[in-house]
Amino acid sequence: MKFFKKTSWWESGIKFTCLPNCGKCCNEPNGIVYLSLKDMTRLAAFQSMSLSEWIKRDCRKTLDGRYVLKSKPENLICIYLDDDLKCNVYDSKPDQCSAFPWWNENLKNEKSWNKTKQICPGIEHPDALLIDNNTIKFWIEADNIAEKGVRDIDL
Ligand code: SF4
Ligand code: SF4
Repeated sequence: MKFFKKTSWWESGIKFTCLPNCGKCCNEPNGIVYLSLKDMTRLAAFQSMSLSEWIKRDCRKTLDGRYVLKSKPENLICIYLDDDLKCNVYDSKPDQCSAFPWWNENLKNEKSWNKTKQICPGIEHPDALLIDNNTIKFWIEADNIAEKGVRDIDL
């Protein structure tokens, strides 16, 4: 795992709960959601589409060729976020979305974590539970895989 030494500052766990009806982490213009092949296959099946149809409708490529979710042209926010700040594909959402706030870029040091806390009211919320370091590492790895991305797919 690229950013972490043997002992990370979060080894003893971090308190977090995802708050219902929040949606703040999705409601960011220019946010990028990288996709693993597993994500893409799952999202296409969830919407009863073939992978190629789904890619054509809901994906774009970054400048370096990785597939990411499209954004709405009017506000540059994820196409799956509805007007009530709910995710339309919640049960099938990309791993990188499930991994928030445990992204490499957020956890690389306490300064970046403090910035993440400003976005996410679930971190250290009074109702939050302690998330142990193994769970955090699991999501860091999921974020790593998604961020490597997919460039070529045999359709
Ligand atoms: S910002 Fe935090 S609390 Fe809000 S939806 Fe995202 S993960 Fe959940
Ligand atoms: S796919 Fe869903 S969870 Fe992920 S950014 Fe879009 S609206 Fe948010």
